[in-house]
Order: sequence, then structure tokens, then C-alpha cells
Amino acid sequence: MPQARILVVEDEVIVARTIASQLRQLGYIVTGTASSGKVAIAKAWETQPELVLMDIILKGEMDGIATASLIREQLDVPVIFLTAYGDDHTLERAKITQPLGYIVKPFTTKDLKIAIEIGLLKHQLERELRENRDQLATLLNSISDAVIATNEQGNVTFMNPAAEALTGWQQKDALGNEAAKIFHIVDEITGTTLENPVTKVLRDQQVVYLGEFTSLITRDGKRVPIGDSASPLRRQFDQINGVVIVFWDLSERRQTKLLEQALEKEQELNRLKSLFISTVSHEFRNPLTVIQTSVELIEMQAAKLTDAKRAIYLKRIQGAVQSLEKLMEEVLFMGRAEAEKLVCNPAPLNLEQFCRELIEDFSIAQSSVCEIVFTCYSDRTDAVMDEGLLHYLFENLLSNAVKYSPGGGKIQFDLICDPIDQVAIFYIQDQGIGIPEPDQARLFESFYRASNVQSIQGTGLGLVIVKRCVDAHRGQISVTSKVGVGTTFRVILPLNNS
Ligand code: ATP
Ligand code: MG
Repeated sequence: MPQARILVVEDEVIVARTIASQLRQLGYIVTGTASSGKVAIAKAWETQPELVLMDIILKGEMDGIATASLIREQLDVPVIFLTAYGDDHTLERAKITQPLGYIVKPFTTKDLKIAIEIGLLKHQLERELRENRDQLATLLNSISDAVIATNEQGNVTFMNPAAEALTGWQQKDALGNEAAKIFHIVDEITGTTLENPVTKVLRDQQVVYLGEFTSLITRDGKRVPIGDSASPLRRQFDQINGVVIVFWDLSERRQTKLLEQALEKEQELNRLKSLFISTVSHEFRNPLTVIQTSVELIEMQAAKLTDAKRAIYLKRIQGAVQSLEKLMEEVLFMGRAEAEKLVCNPAPLNLEQFCRELIEDFSIAQSSVCEIVFTCYSDRTDAVMDEGLLHYLFENLLSNAVKYSPGGGKIQFDLICDPIDQVAIFYIQDQGIGIPEPDQARLFESFYRASNVQSIQGTGLGLVIVKRCVDAHRGQISVTSKVGVGTTFRVILPLNNS
């Protein structure tokens, strides 16, 4: 261990010399002796000792205590006081200078050594502690994550500058306040206040993390999306002394995510538009080809054309024109719905009457092999809905029920009006080919057709239109189906859409 450098301040010259010689005997280096406070300060500057042995009573303007406090202040050199006696007042004053110890005169060489060694060790430990504390403070003050610490009652004991910036609270105002007041968090979607992580940590005694969509309410009421964790502070293994919350601002990341999502949506929309255009043009080509070849055949056969043949070709042309018309109508409807121009114009109507008329018209137009059975389970069926949209909706569901029941069978159309929930519930149930389970979730996507309908004509737009009509009424639609048994569509619409 290197020898410690010591300055002796003692106004009795003989005593000063004796102490200096004792110190040398003990192996220390005596950097000098001084008999007054003034000289002591000058010698301390000049010889840079590691320790000062200071007599409390000194001749001159400054006593030992005043001198020690200046040396400590200016040079950060610790002091051990030498004192023959100490009245309470003197000791109180001496304490302010935070001496490393006192040696009471008269003392032996051994007393001197013990006091010096303990004093030096204490000074070294204090310096290390200070350095650690400074290092920790610099670290907490310079990290970009916000840090709030609390005691075991959940009251704030520390905030770093990042926490001050994010919460809008200054540490001096926040200290001692309940953590929930400074760190007030809410659910980003519902806006409801969330349980404070400090309370949770103190209760569960373990680290907790925030949910994905959490916002901090700042002191001035702004909302900032944040991520965080809260951990128990333990001084001993089984004892929690407080909580530390580490959190960070997610605004930028959230913004980027939103932009990414918007971009993805736009790309998906563009992809769907291209798919829509190519599928629609393909669907138009089929009936056009039928018309073109039928016309060509009529021309080629001209004079030889029998009446029967002519009737067949004309029927083909008529069929193709009809499917073109239907397609046109569907595409126009979709276009209107896409541009969000699908306005719902609700007006009073009687649902039972509406359904009966719809089924009658539909049965005449379809001349289908299926029998449509309508049952109304309610006496009062008055509603306020858009009759035009209802037509699209149920015509499509009925035409699917007929189209996908190639073997015929019964189609049940049921109506129930629930006066308590104020909704109308419609069931359209067929005994057709059914829909394979994996296809059921995608039926309402444009152009989606189930895997078991390849041989049956269709575009895959009917149910998209149905869904748009249901949405326009703020209703719901669901399907249950079993291959080979049949399919049921259930539609629930609010009775009053005005
Ligand atoms: P279109 O645009 O001419 O209506 P589509 O009937 O094929 O063509 P959607 O009405 O949208 O299109 O129906 C989508 C798919 O849902 C159908 O292709 C069929 O696979 C399935 N589907 C709908 N209704 C039924 C039903 N009642 N029974 C069995 N499958 C059905
Ligand atoms: Mg259809």
C-alpha cells in the first residue's frame, strides 16, 4: 500500500513536531506542518496531502473547524481533528465539516495509526460511493427511456429527464405524489383508465408489462402511446422497497405502423381493382362470344335455316343478353358501393307484405324447380328500411338458394320480428349442395366461389352485394351449411333505420 501523505496543523510547535515524528515512524509521509489556519490552507494547496490532522483550537483568526471546512471545500481533502476536549457546541460545528474522525489528546502512536487508517479507508469508500452514485445519475439522466421510481407505498421518489419530458411533470413537483397521478395510463382504444403497474407490481411482487395499446395521459392532458415494463426494487431478496417503471414513447413507431398499414391497404385495394377489372372483362366475354357465334351461324345458314334452329339461336342470344344485363347491374351496384355512394334511404314498409310480394315476383321470373315456403312468425312486422336494397339482398339470397339446389327441394323463407331487441330476423334455408367448411369464411369476398360449384355458372359477386346491403342497414349476416344437406343464411336487420 502506498504511504499516505499527511499535513499536520497544530499551533504548539513542539506537539506538531512530536506528531510529525510519530507519523514518520508509522511510515507516513508528512507533507508539512502548519501552526495557523491561513498557513495550513496555503500548505494544503502547495503539498496536496491526502489527509490533514487538524487541531481544533488554533491561534489566529481561523480555528481548526473553519480551516477544515475551507480545505474540504477547496481541495476535497479529508480531515481528522485533534482535540484535548470538546464542548457540545464545538463538536456540533466540527460535524458540519464531515471529519473522518477525532483523536483525543493525549494519544498513543497506536491510537494515531488506527484513526488514520480507518479515516483513509472511510474516505476511499465515500469517494467510491459518490462515483457510483454520479455514474448512476449520469446513466439515468442520459438514457432516452423514461424512468420513474417509487417507494414501497407507490409514491414517486425519482424521475429522470426523459420521464419529465414525456409526462410533463417536473421531478420536484412529482416527488411524493402517488405514481398513478404522474403515470396515468389508459386503454388507447376505449380510453378507460388502466390499473397502474406500480400497484400491480407491489401486489404481485413481479415484473409487469403493459398491453399493446396503452397511452399515457400527460400533465396537460395529451395522449402519448407508450410501451413499458415495471419491476420491483429489492434491497433484499424477499423484500420489495419500491418499483421502477421504464417506459418509452411509441408515437413515431405507431405512426410508421399506421402508414405501413395504409400502404398495404392501398396495395390490396389496387390488387383487387385489377382483379375486378380482369374478371369482369372475362365474364363479359363469355356471353358476347355466345351472341357472336349465334349471329354468325344465322348468317352462314341464311336460306337453309329452319325455324326450329332459328328459335334455338335466338334463345341462346336472349340468354346471353340477360346474363350481360345481370352482370352490368352487379358491376354498377359494386361501383356505387365502392365509391361509398350506396346510400340507405329507409322508408316505412311492412316486412311480411314485402317478403310475400318478393317471393311471388321471384317465383314467376325464375319458374324454378324449388318450392319456396314463406312463414312469418310475428304479428307486427312494420319496419323502416330501404326497400330497394332489401330487394337486392333477398333476390340474391333466393337466387343462390335456387341455383345451388339443382335437384330442387324446399326453400324455407322465415321472418321473425323481435320487438324487444327491435330487430327483424330472416332465415333462407335450402336443401341444396351446401358449402364446404373451408370456403364458408370467404364467401363475402368479391369473385370468391366455393370449390363445389365449378359446373354452375356464377361470378361471385352476389353475396358481396348482399353484404353491402346488410351493412348499409347496420345489420349482420351469417351462414351455416353442410355439404349435401343444405345451407341457411341468417340476416338480422334493425327494425328502425331512420
Ligand atoms: P353471382 O355473382 O352470379 O351471384 P355466385 O352465385 O357464384 O355468382 P355469390 O352469390 O357471391 O356468387 O356466392 C358466392 C359463392 O357462395 C357461390 O359461388 C357458392 O359457391 C356459394 N353459395 C352461395 N349461396 C349458396 C347456397 N345457397 N348454397 C350453396 N352454395 C352457395
Ligand atoms: Mg349468387
